Amino acid sequence: MENIRIELHRLQSKIKGKILLPEDKDFDSARATWDVATDHRPALIVLAANAKDVIETIKFAGEVGQKVTVISTGHGPTRPASGGIMLRLSGMDAVRIDKEARTAYVEAGAKWSKVLEMAAVYGLAPLMGSSSDVGAVGYTLGGGLGWLARKYGLSLDNVNYFDIVTSDAELKRAERDSCDDLFWALSGAGSAFGVVVSMEIRLVPENIVYAGNLVYGHEDAKMLLDKYIEWTEELPDEMSSAMVLANFPDLPIVPEPLRGKSVAMVRGCFAGNIEDGERIVNKLREWREPILDMWSKIPFSMADTISNDPKEPIPVSVTNVTIDELNEKAKAALLKMTYRDEGYSPILFTEIYHMGGSIASSDRSESVFAVRDAKYVVKIMGLVLGDGSRDFFSAAVTGLKDELKDELNSEVYPNFLEGLEKFNHPGRLYPVDTLEKLGRIKVRFDPDNMFENGLEIGPVQ
Ligand SMILES: Cc1cc2nc3c(=O)[nH]c(=O)nc-3n(C[C@H](O)[C@H](O)[C@H](O)COP(=O)(O)OP(=O)(O)OC[C@H]3O[C@@H](n4cnc5c(N)ncnc54)[C@H](O)[C@@H]3O)c2cc1C
Repeated sequence: MENIRIELHRLQSKIKGKILLPEDKDFDSARATWDVATDHRPALIVLAANAKDVIETIKFAGEVGQKVTVISTGHGPTRPASGGIMLRLSGMDAVRIDKEARTAYVEAGAKWSKVLEMAAVYGLAPLMGSSSDVGAVGYTLGGGLGWLARKYGLSLDNVNYFDIVTSDAELKRAERDSCDDLFWALSGAGSAFGVVVSMEIRLVPENIVYAGNLVYGHEDAKMLLDKYIEWTEELPDEMSSAMVLANFPDLPIVPEPLRGKSVAMVRGCFAGNIEDGERIVNKLREWREPILDMWSKIPFSMADTISNDPKEPIPVSVTNVTIDELNEKAKAALLKMTYRDEGYSPILFTEIYHMGGSIASSDRSESVFAVRDAKYVVKIMGLVLGDGSRDFFSAAVTGLKDELKDELNSEVYPNFLEGLEKFNHPGRLYPVDTLEKLGRIKVRFDPDNMFENGLEIGPVQ
């Protein structure tokens, strides 16, 4: 890398952004990501200011034979960078709304919060997820499962095009309408083929929604789960929801009365007539009065209040399983894993997302995304305060997967996986023939695996 450093002034003279080396004072903050458990050790960091900076950096990486780790806003699962160039895109956060076309042009470093705020001015909304603090492009490249998904599909179902810089340092546009292989691959396996610098997405006409949480004690969890499954059988596509089995930590970031408590919750968002939404949620209220009832009419711009994800970085481990039928065995296993009869539970949340609706009915030929048929995606999250707690969490999840091996579907949801699990095991994300097609696309756009820290796609010649 020493020789390469001599060349760095050449790169710096061509870019508007900044190059950071380990001795620079901002290096450590620039290499840090939301998942503080991942320790990136790049040889240098390029803070890109625009697409031209990305092109120059990729050209440079090709010339000096360095690998590139792409980080947009840093909320996602990544493999730890070891050497090479970290390309940070947080500085590229332009958003432009076209209110007539109902579209947004979004640069790779923009968070959903910016799109949400700018779209809301026109009574429009993006298909963001539980937290507007997350990067819009990174979220979309892995699917994008949010509170409007059953009505409008995933975020990737609503992309018009991606602009991407591939390993040959060329800027390309991958468009939905051109039946482009690259567009298909980016829509779900986005991190393996280059640097997505921006995208254009469709916005939806949602302004006021009925959303929130019903919170019950964990002693009601078994019956609530039965009730939730029955409830989801009849839901219209306007309702996107999840049931959460939760062990809130005894930490100041958790508000009373949830701090340190184990509870069961039904959360969601109804994007339709408010009275209809109220009537649907009443079916749960009438079954049993919750400890807390937070469902109300809110502007979609306040959708963060549904999940109340923390904004501050926390060390978590996240994984998921997908399943079609939550039978007695599956329900018992989820409850047993989350709420242990005795001792400390390694699980923070087991969140059972109800799929279907437009997620299942969107045109499958347009994207590589493979989790279309699952009835439920079960996200499992643990607090990881050291190797011991990571092992404890992994053991609990492995136990669940072993117990339910006959019940679980083979594919898992890409966005709810941590780095090593996501990127090292693409076979769990896509069927074999899909992986082969991805491999052929990889050879076209990244033959030397410059983006090895993205999804591991073996080139197929
Ligand atoms: C608090 C929180 C809430 C979340 N809620 C949801 C949710 O409701 N629904 C959901 O679907 N997901 C959710 N996620 C997961 C989230 O969508 C993914 O973690 C996503 O990858 C985050 O995007 P990012 O830009 O921050 O990614 P980064 O951490 O910046 O990148 C993650 C990886 O994606 C790749 N990548 C990122 N940007 C690019 C790019 N521009 N070009 C090429 N490759 C790129 C790289 O390989 C990178 O290593 C949540 C995550 C958090 C932390």
